[in-house]
Amino acid sequence: MRMPLHITVDTFKHQVRNALKGHKRYPFVLMLEPLYTCNLACIGCSIERHTGKLKDRLPVAKCLQAVDDCGAPIVSICGGEPTIYPELPELISEIIRRKRHIYLCTNALLLDKKVFGKIPPHKRLTINVHLDGLRETHDYVCARDGVFDKAIEMMKEAKQRGYHLWANTTVFKETDIEEVEKLCALLKEIGVDGHLLSPGYQYESVKQDIFLTRKDTENKFRRVLAFADHYRLTSTPMFLEFAAGMRDYECSPWSTVTYTPLGWKGPCYLIGKQHFDTWEEFWNGVDWDYWESRQDDLCQNCSMHSGFEASVTRNLHKNPRDLARMVAWQFLG
Ligand code: SF4
Repeated sequence: MRMPLHITVDTFKHQVRNALKGHKRYPFVLMLEPLYTCNLACIGCSIERHTGKLKDRLPVAKCLQAVDDCGAPIVSICGGEPTIYPELPELISEIIRRKRHIYLCTNALLLDKKVFGKIPPHKRLTINVHLDGLRETHDYVCARDGVFDKAIEMMKEAKQRGYHLWANTTVFKETDIEEVEKLCALLKEIGVDGHLLSPGYQYESVKQDIFLTRKDTENKFRRVLAFADHYRLTSTPMFLEFAAGMRDYECSPWSTVTYTPLGWKGPCYLIGKQHFDTWEEFWNGVDWDYWESRQDDLCQNCSMHSGFEASVTRNLHKNPRDLARMVAWQFLG
C-alpha cells in the first residue's frame, strides 16, 4: 500500500464531509512553519525562511489554533528547521491528540538529540528527511560538508527505532536524473516508506539561477517517469505526467495552506504576496479564482505538488481510467 490506510481513510472522510457541506475548496494540508530559524542555509532556500530569530517563533497555542481553524487532516511541520523548535514534543503530541497526521520535515541533523528518545514513534507521525541528491550534490545544496552522511545515519536509526520515514527531494536545473535514480535505489535499500520528488520553484526572494523552467521540468520528469514504478514515490502517476507536460490542470492553491510567524501566507505555499492575521481574513481575502487560473507571471514555471496534487484528486471523477490507476497505485504500489 502506497500511503498508510489510516491516512487514506481520514483524507477520504475529509473529502466526503466537505462535499456534503457543499464546499468546493478546502485545505488538505497545513504547512505549519513554527519558526524561521535553521541550522543550515541551503542555496535553494529563501533567506527569510532560515535567518529568523528563535525568540520570534510561534507559540504552541497559535500553532494549534491554526490546526483547528483550517481543519486539514495533514499537518506538515517545517520552517526553518522544526527540530530546533523547543516546544516540538508538546506540539506533536497536541496535534496527534487532535487526530491529525504529521509530516515532520527536517534536514535530520538533530534527530538524535531532539527527537529520538523524546518524541516516540506513532502511526500519525512521519519523519520526512530533505535529501537533494547523493553526497556531493546534497552537501553542495546544503552549503556544508557532512550533511548527507549524517542524514543517512539518522534515517537508518529512525527506521531501526520504528518511525515511519519519508524522504523529500527537490529537482533543480542542474539535477542529474541518473543521480536521482541512484538516490531512489539507496533510499529503497534503507527501507524508506515514501519518497517525494518535486520540481524546484524560484521563490520571489531567491536569486540563484538554479530553478527549473516549465520546459526543464517536463524534460526531467519524463525521465523520472521511466523509473517511477520501481520505487516508492509518493507523487501520483497523474501528477508525474503533469510535471512531464503530458497533461494539464488548474492549480489548487487552497489545498495546501501555510501558517508562519508572519501569519497566514497567501496565495500559496510558494508566493507570500500577503500575510493575514486570521484564518477568516486569509480564506476570504485571497482571490482563489485568479490563482487557480495560473495566469500570474509567478505561476508560469510552477508545477509544485502543493498546488497540483489536489487538482489530480479533484479531477479523478471525470476519468474512470485515472480513478482505476489511482486505486492501483495506492493499493498495489
Ligand atoms: S501555480 Fe504555483 S505559484 Fe501559482 S498559485 Fe499555484 S502553487 Fe502558487
